[in-house]
This record gives sequence, C-alpha cells and structure tokens, in this order.
Amino acid sequence: MDVASNLIEIQENMKLACEKSNRKIDEITVIGVTKYVTIERAEETIDAGIKNLGENRNEGFLEKHKEIGQNAIWHFIGTLQTRKVKDIIQKIDYLHSLDRLSLAKEINKRSEKPVNCFVQVNVSGEESKHGLAPENVFDFIKEIEKYEKIRIVGLMTMAPHIEDRDEIRKVFKRLAELREQISQKNYSYAPCQFLSMGMSNDYDIAIEEGATHIRIGSKLVGSL
Ligand SMILES: *Cc1c(COP(=O)(O)O)cnc(C)c1O
Repeated sequence: MDVASNLIEIQENMKLACEKSNRKIDEITVIGVTKYVTIERAEETIDAGIKNLGENRNEGFLEKHKEIGQNAIWHFIGTLQTRKVKDIIQKIDYLHSLDRLSLAKEINKRSEKPVNCFVQVNVSGEESKHGLAPENVFDFIKEIEKYEKIRIVGLMTMAPHIEDRDEIRKVFKRLAELREQISQKNYSYAPCQFLSMGMSNDYDIAIEEGATHIRIGSKLVGSL
C-alpha cells in the first residue's frame, strides 16, 4: 500500500479515538517511523504530508538525514549510546529516549543549542525495555536542571507487546499521570507538555489516554 492510503486509514482511526476522548485531531503529531524502509519511501512519507520522521539507529538516521535534511522534522526514537551523541545531536529536533544522566551530560557537552528531549519511562517494568522506572522519574528530572542544554518536553513509553488492551491502557494512563505531576512542578527547563506513546498496534488507545505524539512504522510506511 502507498503511504497516502495508509495515512487515510490511520486518520480515520485517529478521528474515532478523538471523538471517544473529546480531543482534537490537530493536537496529535504523527511521527512516521522510517527505520524499516528506504530513503525513497521516507520521501513518499513526506509527500503524503507527514513531516515528522522517526529513526532509531545512528546509521539509518544519518543516511536519511543526508538526503532529506531540512525537509523533515527529525525524531530520534531509539536508544542512544553515549559515544554516538556527537554524531547526531546537532541534526535531530527531538530525542525520545533520554534515560540516564550520563547521556544528559554528554548531550550537554556536545550540543550547541538546547535539545528537546522526552524522558523514556519503562512503565510496564519489562526487563527488555529501556527507560527509567516511574518512581525514579522525579529525581531524574530534578537532576537535569544542571544541564542547561536539556529541555524536557515530555515523557515517552513503549507499551508491552500483548493482546490485552486494558493492560496497554493502564501503561498509557500511568505515563499521563506522571506527565501531569511533573508539569505541575513548573520547572522552566521541563515544561513536559507532551506524551510520546502509541505505535501501529495501540495508537488509538494512546490517543484516548492523551498522546500528543504517536510513532507509527509498519502500518504507515510499512515494514521490512
Ligand atoms: C519501531 C518503533 C516504533 C514503530 O513501531 P511500529 O509498531 O512498526 O509502528 C515506534 N517507537 C519506537 C521506539 C520504535 O522503535
């Protein structure tokens, strides 16, 4: 399927989820996750109207960024190794995977401008997942104050790969609560206004629970 047709279907589901939760569709940014696909397909995604692209590996990101550059808004959604920060940090618009102070420190050292970061939270507690435990997020964000190049714009999580939609919903609800508590602290460096949650299989639930950024790969641009 072409990206434009996939997008029509996704937008229909987004509308339904917005109606259920009394939200407006234009509050939600769709990030086209192009990690599985070619540069040509990424360009097709932009032509279909999706300007926000997500990549999870340095190599894939740099390859696409070289061709597409300023024609997209770039979200780095994968785990970022500290020693690779310098290769990408000037080129990305958002980092969705801030999960440790050593990474914050390195970004602070290497970036010339403030970097918009989502703190990744491992809400479900699965061992295979990156991210901070929910109870550690508050202290972590307090510590970030000393890194003046880090701006905490939101929280990010990945739901577990399970069929039980109620369990998935609980994960998203918990992230939304955490976001609310952090934004109430009114830290100038951590407005924490955004929620990055929801992928191909669960973006409708994520929207119902307040997602502002959904990250869609296989159902939008396709997979391998
Ligand atoms: C791959 C990936 C996605 C997109 O996954 P799909 O299920 O293909 O939509 C979203 N977020 C992250 C962090 C990813 O690594």
